[in-house]
Amino acid sequence: MALKEHNYWLTTTEFPAENPSQPLPEVVDVVVIGAGFTGLSAARTLAKRGAKVAVLESETIGWGASSRNGGMVLTGMKLGVNQLISRYGRELTQRMYAASLASMDCVEQIVREEGMDCDFFRCGHLEVACKQKHFDDYARQAEVIAREFNHQLRVVEKHELNSEIGSNIYYGGMVDEVSAGCNPARYVAGLARSAMKAGAEIFEHARVQTIQRDSRQGELGWKLSTSRGPLWAHEVFVATSGYTGSATPALQKKIIPIGSFIITTEVLPEKLARELSPRNRMIYDSKNYLYYYRLTPDRRMLFGGRAAFFPENDQTIRRSAQILRRGMIGVYPQLSDAKIDYVWGGTLDFAFDIMPHAGKMDGMYYALGYAGHGVAMATYQGQKIAELMAGDQPENPFVGIPFPGAPIGLYNGKPWFLPLAGAWYKVLDWVS
Ligand SMILES: Cc1cc2nc3c(=O)[nH]c(=O)nc-3n(C[C@H](O)[C@H](O)[C@H](O)COP(=O)(O)OP(=O)(O)OC[C@H]3O[C@@H](n4cnc5c(N)ncnc54)[C@H](O)[C@@H]3O)c2cc1C
Repeated sequence: MALKEHNYWLTTTEFPAENPSQPLPEVVDVVVIGAGFTGLSAARTLAKRGAKVAVLESETIGWGASSRNGGMVLTGMKLGVNQLISRYGRELTQRMYAASLASMDCVEQIVREEGMDCDFFRCGHLEVACKQKHFDDYARQAEVIAREFNHQLRVVEKHELNSEIGSNIYYGGMVDEVSAGCNPARYVAGLARSAMKAGAEIFEHARVQTIQRDSRQGELGWKLSTSRGPLWAHEVFVATSGYTGSATPALQKKIIPIGSFIITTEVLPEKLARELSPRNRMIYDSKNYLYYYRLTPDRRMLFGGRAAFFPENDQTIRRSAQILRRGMIGVYPQLSDAKIDYVWGGTLDFAFDIMPHAGKMDGMYYALGYAGHGVAMATYQGQKIAELMAGDQPENPFVGIPFPGAPIGLYNGKPWFLPLAGAWYKVLDWVS
């Protein structure tokens, strides 16, 4: 089979259909912008609470990062615990860690409640050390996480690593049994179905162009212009992550869109697949410019990384396929003859402090900044912010933390500095 510049997950998934000729409603309680994990989880929660909800998606359901990712449902956040504790203190970090564990339970609960067929399974994840000093740090991290968060991680010495991974390039590993895997495209399609079942309406090819404060019959709300016509909403939830654009300029300036890319091989023989990943873990390495990889349910090796820093386009996708293939063979020489069937890319949403952020800005609700840890956290934030909008006071330690902009304040949403950042990360991987 020839290499296809196409997302493998989409070949396994059917998305629910919307009616393209149906006009937008005139007035709704809530407009959700973006039909990914965040927006659909919010729409599902709000519709279940009786709100009239319209989800506006500029492309199609799940088109953004939510259908393009590795399907790793992970614990923790992107930053290490020591860094979190020194930045936010013990108490807030404990609450954040608890929320990150709760976010995985949230995904599992939704999958079970809705009977979603999305290959969710608690396979655990394995982090592998690219340097001896990275491995030495694992024991310290596991000890802090056990003490501060009552969560157990298992350090795997180099000599026992072959029970976890069929590669001998690493210095050891660390396993978290709680993490899970899923088929993200099936999951986001399932979320869309469940939001629709609860009564939310989803409109595809409905790009939000402008959002203005407006009052209508004495009530304060928002007037939106979209590529499918205007509508009026009491509240707006912005769930656009790495694709945040000029309709919400204040948020756009706070988010750096960073490309991440994935290849998948042809279907592998059962024996080889078992050798590569004997416990079928979600795996990633300890570098800043990291690789992440796993087997798909039909036994392809899915191998991803930030091969090019810029978001996906034909050029970055093609270049990434070559870089990732070399990276994959570096980890697994056993795959040097394996054909690559698919390559695709997507855009990650990084805040300048590499943290998730949620709450209200300029009067609109939002949640984003998942930095590659969004499968669980986006679902969770969508639900929690929706509960807040419905008048509850849910526990959410990410609301209200400082949300920094660009250090020199000159960023206009166009990430001119990405090549510099990419080079900087490569230097960091070399020296740290
Ligand atoms: C290649 C890749 C691999 C990843 N791997 C993992 C992983 O293994 N595990 C993990 O936890 N996370 C991973 N992530 C991150 C995760 O996929 C994201 O954090 C998550 O999907 C974000 O979901 P979301 O709903 O907030 O945003 P998205 O799914 O990106 O959805 C945002 C939507 O907003 C729409 N939109 C934007 N502007 C407008 C507008 N003006 N009007 C209407 N609609 C608009 C876009 O079209 C888009 O569909 C990965 C990401 C990528 C790109």
